[in-house]
Amino acid sequence: MRGAHGIAAEIGHFNAVPDGRPCGCGRQGCWEQYASGNALVREARRLAAERRPEAGTLLALGDGTPEGVEGGHVTAAAHAGDPVAIDAFGIVGTWLGRGLADLTAIVDPEAFIIGGGVSEAGDLLLSAAQRTLTEKVDTGTKRPIPKMLLAQLGNDAGIVGAADLVRYSD
Ligand SMILES: [Zn+2]
Repeated sequence: MRGAHGIAAEIGHFNAVPDGRPCGCGRQGCWEQYASGNALVREARRLAAERRPEAGTLLALGDGTPEGVEGGHVTAAAHAGDPVAIDAFGIVGTWLGRGLADLTAIVDPEAFIIGGGVSEAGDLLLSAAQRTLTEKVDTGTKRPIPKMLLAQLGNDAGIVGAADLVRYSD
């Protein structure tokens, strides 16, 4: 789906929250402000500031302050059992599942393939997303629930896909 002007499927800019967080596109409340690697870091920093005693592992991986927390720290801390890092994944995964439920209504996919840097977190992200997706789609209408899979090329999936697009277009 490329659209009339080649800019279709900018699904990160669906409005998830009316008058929500400002987005780089100039609007407010876009989905990618809630379900993305940047959103994960924002949630982790916010939770770490509110629940400092519980966030010892997460804060130690950064420079000891919430502002020093980066994306890789959240994944490492969650794998190590840090409850704040795990909760940050739960929040972002829930937002991811909500948006995917809306996309299910539009494109009826067999599966969603999740890529990007944050996909390296695997089940930390996917479990909350799949749970929310299932809740939102399974409303008694017998609509099949799409699977959620990780991109085999991980964070390189986008660049490899772009190269393939050039290679196979004429
Ligand atoms: Zn936007």
